[in-house]
Amino acid sequence: MLIIGNGRLLTRDERNTYHENGAVCCDGGVIVEIGKTAALKQMYPEAEFLDAGGGVIMPGLINAHSHIYSALSRGLSIKGYNPVNFYEVLDGMWWAIDRRLTLAGTRCSASQTYIDSIKNGVTTLYDHHAGYGAIEGSLFEIADVARAMHYRTCLCYEVSDRDGKEKRDAAIRENAEFIKHAKAQNSDMIKAMFGLHAAFTLSDETLELCFKHKPADIGFHIHVAEGMNDVYDSLDRYAKRTVNRLHDMGILGKRTIAGHCIHLSPGEMELLKATDTMVVNNPESNMGNAVGCSPVLQLMDRQILVGLGTDAYTHDMLESLKVALLIQRHNAMMPNVGWREVMQMLFYNNAKIGARAFTTPLGVLAPGAAADIAVFDYKPFTPFGADNADGHILFGFSGKGCVHTVIDGKIAMKDRTILCCDEEEINAKTLETAKKLWGSLNG
Ligand SMILES: [Zn+2]
Repeated sequence: MLIIGNGRLLTRDERNTYHENGAVCCDGGVIVEIGKTAALKQMYPEAEFLDAGGGVIMPGLINAHSHIYSALSRGLSIKGYNPVNFYEVLDGMWWAIDRRLTLAGTRCSASQTYIDSIKNGVTTLYDHHAGYGAIEGSLFEIADVARAMHYRTCLCYEVSDRDGKEKRDAAIRENAEFIKHAKAQNSDMIKAMFGLHAAFTLSDETLELCFKHKPADIGFHIHVAEGMNDVYDSLDRYAKRTVNRLHDMGILGKRTIAGHCIHLSPGEMELLKATDTMVVNNPESNMGNAVGCSPVLQLMDRQILVGLGTDAYTHDMLESLKVALLIQRHNAMMPNVGWREVMQMLFYNNAKIGARAFTTPLGVLAPGAAADIAVFDYKPFTPFGADNADGHILFGFSGKGCVHTVIDGKIAMKDRTILCCDEEEINAKTLETAKKLWGSLNG
């Protein structure tokens, strides 16, 4: 049993309750009680106590879209890489990296992504992996890391035609095998989806094959209309827009995540709504790639479930939250839009997205919910409560303010020290692996 107490506790459930000097008690991976610190300590005197030191106790954050394969790119420059469009970003950087990823490289990338997520109070990560240098076993390698670190994650492999049929088939097999494995494990720590890169690198034949190999209760995870090339390709080759084509191929549905969704027509938005497909916005990555601004406000007006991810641009969901608001206001040239929507995306919609893959409720502090908890070092100097906590979070918090992270009732980070693995040893291995990868990219 573990009590995390002596903090300002925000439940972030539908009632959004605030407990001054609050505490949360967990047992066996779930929350059993929420209340005042003194009362919980009295109720469970035998429980281990983790002191929040007056900071803010919140549910652990969920990142609904990321890419483990990109972890070794930090600080990298590739000779001659000077992209002038989105396709050149993919081909010149991300595909160049993932074609050279070994299983050891994937392993290091997974470790670093999970460590950085824990440091930012992110306790669940949806990953969309590609490693065309070593496909077979790559999701198992990532799951092995997640299991060893006791990290909660939902994995899939990006199927694509870009490297030929043999590799496409291996990618389909990797999804199918991993889905079987995740189902057999029946654990609420590791889940699987069926990954697809993006419509413009997937023929109808490939989409049909993927559909055939996917169990009905598993969703797809795919990039949708991220760049204009995805729209033009669909119009040129299939005489229909991207979402229409995906709908016709059976890819949409309530368990499917459509990442990005930037260049959408009103008709495509209606299709996403009619199929109850989830959308995940990745604002920083979209700005970095200069691909445009997702019509998040219009999607949410239509009651489409829009969540927040990072696309691995950062692992800091609070930074992503800020940028999500800024891009919407900047794009609309209206300083009064987006606030309600971005808070909804990170705190409520990501929890709803979590509920479509995981069994235990995520993203809230409530009895019966997963014991995934983040404590932020934050001392307010203006009034603080449930009614204005969003303003404090938006302007006063950052991911690196996280001091303790608890996942499934286990302390993954305490006083900013990672406990769930040997960070220095992993860093040393990653450094050697990154040097080799960089050498081959610039050799
Ligand atoms: Zn992505």
